[in-house]
Amino acid sequence: MIRLYDTMAREKRPFVPLNPQRITMYVCGPTVYGRAHIGNARPAVVFDTLARLIRHEFGANSLAYARNVTDVDDKIIAAAEAEGVEPAVITDRYERHYLEDMGALGVTPPDIAPHATQEIGAMVEMIERLVGLGHAYEAEGHVLFHVPSDPQYGVLSHRDREAMLAGARVEVAPYKRDPADFVLWKPSGEGVIGWDSPWGRGRPGWHIECSAMIRAHLGETIDIHGGGLDLIFPHHENEIAQSRCAHAGAPLARFWVHNGFVDMGAEKMSKSLGNIVTPADLLAQGHRGETLRLALLSAHYRQPLPWTEALVAQAKATLDGLYRRAGDDQAGDIDEGVIDALSDDLNTPLALSRLSAVEDAGSLKASAQLLGLLQSSAEQWFQSGGDADAIEARISERAEAKKNRDFAAADRIRDELKADGIVLEDGPGGTTWRRE
Ligand SMILES: [Zn+2]
Repeated sequence: MIRLYDTMAREKRPFVPLNPQRITMYVCGPTVYGRAHIGNARPAVVFDTLARLIRHEFGANSLAYARNVTDVDDKIIAAAEAEGVEPAVITDRYERHYLEDMGALGVTPPDIAPHATQEIGAMVEMIERLVGLGHAYEAEGHVLFHVPSDPQYGVLSHRDREAMLAGARVEVAPYKRDPADFVLWKPSGEGVIGWDSPWGRGRPGWHIECSAMIRAHLGETIDIHGGGLDLIFPHHENEIAQSRCAHAGAPLARFWVHNGFVDMGAEKMSKSLGNIVTPADLLAQGHRGETLRLALLSAHYRQPLPWTEALVAQAKATLDGLYRRAGDDQAGDIDEGVIDALSDDLNTPLALSRLSAVEDAGSLKASAQLLGLLQSSAEQWFQSGGDADAIEARISERAEAKKNRDFAAADRIRDELKADGIVLEDGPGGTTWRRE
């Protein structure tokens, strides 16, 4: 029996799905305008691990897991303007990078990856319904959700009105009936990405995207809704209000699961603070994705995770030990102690410590694989360990060749590395590499 901590109930509850043949899980995905940092990778790895556990427990085809791609947003528009390209150039590039980076961390792509720009119809339909029911109103080309129309608003974050207004950092706008009201639709000026709607040409607000896509792909009420702690308010509170008001009171999700932050020193890792470390950087330094995955799973998902070099080094040492002990045995049966630990609110630190006590090599391998670890053979793992310096040296050689306009030599180095499974990527900050 899996038990999960539900943010709304503020306690661990037994996870009993509505329909065990089709368990539904939605996780708020990336806004694709820049490279993901390791804090962004945490929910991807945490919910990938939860998905593995659910599939183990209920069957390989039991889960419908959706993670959206926010590909229309003011930050995307700004990034596109800065580069003088269409927004799609930005969103295609960074979605590709996101999938590569998460793939390197052993994250299986979700079953459904809805894109906001492909689902505008469903959003317009939901907004129209909210307007018709008196929960939203049009004002100066905008459509706003009227927060006082929903007496249950605040049910997830348990905040009173004053705390909500402070937490939402609400934008004061003359067309708002109430300062807490939030945008469902906003006008797009000329030359800005937009779609025709009953309220003129415009684009959706962020919150409505998730509500509309959950309804379209998974249903009115889903089993698990996940995301980072920072999404509880206002994003998830707003999703709940929109969906419940549009669906005659049906709850949006039965379990609300939130992961904690990755910290850098005393601060949360975030783009706006400029203190980010990306999986791409770490992979370029020669760390392997599996090491980063283990580092991300080394703390309980609800706890803050301080990111340090020592953490990464420890994760590497732990993996070396696991690979040494597992050898090249076939995967056997998963250890019950590991399953019990994961079933208790995804207690990955306990699961990892139980792994260290599993004696049978085949069982160790199968148990680690449930966590998305020990995906290569021991031989591969130890072979590819010490060659990061050699790869860096070849990259310098190639840069030198390019500087001398000896492109044939540069291409040859790239091809030779490719034959060894090393892919080079040229960017504005130089060349990075990753394993295929
Ligand atoms: Zn969302």
